[in-house]
Amino acid sequence: MFQTKELRIGWLYPSLMSTYGDRGNVICLQRRCQWRGLSVTIIPITQQTEVSTFKKVDVIVGGGAQDRQQEIVMRDLQGAKAEVFKDIIEEGIPGVFTCGSPQLLGHYYEPAVGRRIDGLGLLDLVSKHPGADMPRCVGDVVFEVTPSPLAEALRKQLGKPPIIIGFENHGGRTYLGKVEPLGKVIKGYGNNGEDGYEGAFYRHVIATYCHGPLLPKNPFIADWLIQTALQKKYQVEITLDPIDDSLTELARKAMLERLEVSYVE
Ligand code: GLN
Repeated sequence: MFQTKELRIGWLYPSLMSTYGDRGNVICLQRRCQWRGLSVTIIPITQQTEVSTFKKVDVIVGGGAQDRQQEIVMRDLQGAKAEVFKDIIEEGIPGVFTCGSPQLLGHYYEPAVGRRIDGLGLLDLVSKHPGADMPRCVGDVVFEVTPSPLAEALRKQLGKPPIIIGFENHGGRTYLGKVEPLGKVIKGYGNNGEDGYEGAFYRHVIATYCHGPLLPKNPFIADWLIQTALQKKYQVEITLDPIDDSLTELARKAMLERLEVSYVE
């Protein structure tokens, strides 16, 4: 018998971590599922959330935060909650983490003011704010997704190089250890404005400095998350019904022209 498939979206600390329209990522996932007849439940993960609820999510979305809110979250994500978070990521639950969220997935974050705060240590990276009087990394950013096999899968799906267009606004600078970068910067600062890398990719985790919001501007990433989550949950090959993204394509083209990035689309 045909059964409606369901996706449960875990949304990390919605009231503390949703700067620069990051909730658009949740809405984008929700809509792209609903347009395909999939049922969606949004599960907010907050300071009150029980560990048992956290275990039920099929995909996780984490947004950005200012240093103060981020610190509250980092102090809450300890103990049993941290363990469950790590377990579900290691199991292969996909997630998209923006700006402040990747900082808390790393070993630590050193804010502009105050002491170093421990992160989950899930991603081999560290983030440091160089000081309140140092300029923030702000502006549009464009980068090519590079890790294998993600890059190949996206290239096959798109028929062209997977180029992410976003907007960044961060004071912290991120330095990768052994974790792979999510991509190579074409325009903008990326992780630290020095090494040309942007974000990180681990298991099925997409970590990036891109707000934007990221997913409506780059719907192929939303579809990769949905497909990966459903395949993991239902243990069958999933092919998503196509969605008419022609308006998004026009917006992307306009953006790339404005940023004078010509060769990619
Ligand atoms: N607090 C972090 C920083 O400034 C993250 C900012 C954000 O999420 N926009 O680096």
